[in-house]
Amino acid sequence: TSGLMMTRPLLISGILEHAAAQFGDQEIVSRETHGPLHRYTYADAATRARQLANALAHMGLKAGSAVGSIAWNNHRHLEAYYAVSGSGMVMHTCNPRLHPQQLIYVINHAEDEVVLFDATFAPLVKGIAAHCPKVRAWVCLADAANTPAIEGVAHVMNYEGLITGHSDRFDWPELDDQTGAALCYTSGTTGNPKGVLYTHRAIVMNATMACLPDVLGLSTQETILPVVPMFHINAWCIPYAALVAGAKLVLPGPKLDGPSLFELMDTEQVTISAGVPTIWMGLIQHVEQNNLRFAHMKRTCVGGSAMPMALIAKFMDTYGVEVRHGWGMTETTAVATMSNLSRADRQKPAAEQHAIVAKQGKTVSGIEIKVVDDNGATLPRDGTSQGELMVRGQWIVERYYKADKTALVDGWFPTGDIATIDAHGTMQIRDRTKDVIKTGGEWISSIDLENAAIGHPAVAMAAVIGVKHPKWDERPLLFIVRKPGQSLEKQEILDFLTTEVAKWWVPDDVVFLESLPVGGTGKVQKNDLRKEYGGVFS
Ligand code: ADP
Repeated sequence: TSGLMMTRPLLISGILEHAAAQFGDQEIVSRETHGPLHRYTYADAATRARQLANALAHMGLKAGSAVGSIAWNNHRHLEAYYAVSGSGMVMHTCNPRLHPQQLIYVINHAEDEVVLFDATFAPLVKGIAAHCPKVRAWVCLADAANTPAIEGVAHVMNYEGLITGHSDRFDWPELDDQTGAALCYTSGTTGNPKGVLYTHRAIVMNATMACLPDVLGLSTQETILPVVPMFHINAWCIPYAALVAGAKLVLPGPKLDGPSLFELMDTEQVTISAGVPTIWMGLIQHVEQNNLRFAHMKRTCVGGSAMPMALIAKFMDTYGVEVRHGWGMTETTAVATMSNLSRADRQKPAAEQHAIVAKQGKTVSGIEIKVVDDNGATLPRDGTSQGELMVRGQWIVERYYKADKTALVDGWFPTGDIATIDAHGTMQIRDRTKDVIKTGGEWISSIDLENAAIGHPAVAMAAVIGVKHPKWDERPLLFIVRKPGQSLEKQEILDFLTTEVAKWWVPDDVVFLESLPVGGTGKVQKNDLRKEYGGVFS
């Protein structure tokens, strides 16, 4: 017998209107691209999102039209998230650090009709506009005074001018919740980027689950600052989740350096933040050098790449800030697994707790995972059998945008990550298939080696790539960025690693760099390292 309850679609407009009605006076603080902080409320954001929806309709955009963005985390970008998706259009967030050719590719592939951009990216717009024939207007997320003229680009508008005069009433369409709401492309390290078209349903479900106490733990009592960019997997759905929970939302704009983030956390009394490990490295360096303390921060949620144990220890033990370590990818809408300390774990010695948090954790309700061998056979959940991680669930991609065939294998999405799962369901990413170092028929986890190197007190950042070797197939090459003012030489770090990892894991060589190449999502670009240093060991 079928159940007898009504079916209402799970819609992004529903999140906005709920937030405006229930938490109308909750605050959103946003760093303008030109510097000052902007403050307003959920109710104000909803009003302006409706105005934007009217303005876009007035421009002739229709359900299914795509609107691109090349923008920081700020309040106008947030309004667009709701106005565009809420109207049944597709919000296509672009990573500004994509190669311009790839940016042109994704804008054309998505068929963006309007592109929203921050003034920072005006030079980028200048370079690509002529190659994006479908784009009718380039809208700067600013008022007229802060919108630059862009030489050679005719249709530049300013956001405030665009929405002014439009009604703040809008009847959000009652869409099917499988309608495409947002589009995000993978970074395309091999070949062109591939688009993932999120449904309203996937986003609403993920955003709701993200609020759970053991995921992000959002509520009206919390203030959350997503450092993770809104172009990186919807800022892990935090711009939606904050409104589901009614949390105060702090958007950092273009200022993502340690001092700026610390100041914002301090003055806005941020309790929860989220971002990739490189961001936390910058923040901790600033905090250490200036002897600062976090007055309000309860926890930081980290993902995108592996959070080194040394950094987990620093946050938890020195600064009393809990670390939550999640895993997800563009194809999984946002977080799919999250590390967490159980009640029993909290009784364990600190080092054991750090090791638990260093794993990528348990699936969020709505997601299932398994690891499989080369033949697709499911491996045991014993914490040691490693194979490709497969995922399925309520917010996982089925096929890429405009692809004619499914991305799934027997109903599961193959992630390209190598992982183990233990008897408690805790998953650990061992490496990416493309990063793991294959040496003498065995595997070396680049993540584990990096983790070990970062454990050395003079190391700020570390990366490991495999380099071709005539005898061993591949051997590890280690890149080190020293902490400021620290001296560290090759032999010393190699000796250190000998005490930390198996002898055959110790890298064949070490390259000291001033910095590592970091992409728009804050991840070390190993491909760039491979291009420059990935020759052959003799
Ligand atoms: P890309 O990094 O290729 O630009 P994504 O942002 O979609 O694109 O990255 C997803 C990948 O990031 C995952 O497949 C995994 O390899 C890696 N990743 C994400 N979170 C973690 C984590 N907590 N630890 C280790 N790797 C992670």
